[in-house]
Amino acid sequence: MDPRQATVNHTPQQVLKDALSRYEQGKIAISFSGAEDVVLLDMANQMGLAVDVFCLDTGRLHAQTYRFLETVRQHYNLDLELLMPQPEAVSELVRHKGLYSFYEDGHSECCAIRKIEPLRRKLDTLDAWITGQRRDQSVTRTNVPQEQEDQAFSTDEHTLIKFNPLADWSSADVWSYIRTQGVPYNELHDSGFVSIGCEPCTRAIAPHEHERAGRWWWEESTQKECGLHAQNVIKIVD
Ligand code: SF4
Repeated sequence: MDPRQATVNHTPQQVLKDALSRYEQGKIAISFSGAEDVVLLDMANQMGLAVDVFCLDTGRLHAQTYRFLETVRQHYNLDLELLMPQPEAVSELVRHKGLYSFYEDGHSECCAIRKIEPLRRKLDTLDAWITGQRRDQSVTRTNVPQEQEDQAFSTDEHTLIKFNPLADWSSADVWSYIRTQGVPYNELHDSGFVSIGCEPCTRAIAPHEHERAGRWWWEESTQKECGLHAQNVIKIVD
């Protein structure tokens, strides 16, 4: 086990502050997509800490999500960096397999082109990144620590650290923070969407369903990572 995984839990603010003090600006960033990430951004903002923020724009997000990104950009006066896939790779995929091949042969190929390649391009420039992963989000995340070496994106020449300040928070904790602090959120959450990704791969869920049940619902729950947090999947199939 990575020794960092054995450390006692700190508050998300402590983890954020520690992370942002250890890495200079330009070498660490928040990966932004959902409710958890805007909580992290808000915490950094309240502590007066500058932090870079990037978001994967797959080209397949809901219109509501694009509006949310713009709201966040304006609310925090943020230079939000949108990472886009290589147009040639998208064009090649769509030309040969259409716009919905993931329903037939799984999400890996499309996610690799629209998410992983742009993410890898960005992470190659960083020494650490910050995510909103929580342990109770899915069976693939039950062991997520607050800080870890990113085994999916580190290389022999370049060690990448991943911070998960909200690892031991629940969904209720996140939403309590959002409500009490007046944090902006994606309007899709008001229509039964909990975990929100690309439009064709996300659906609203019923009250009794697990929050990740609306993501890639046609696939096994143990494989529900898009590659951003692939080491979670590696762990549970070991
Ligand atoms: S979530 Fe769906 S649409 Fe988005 S990149 Fe993955 S497979 Fe493609």
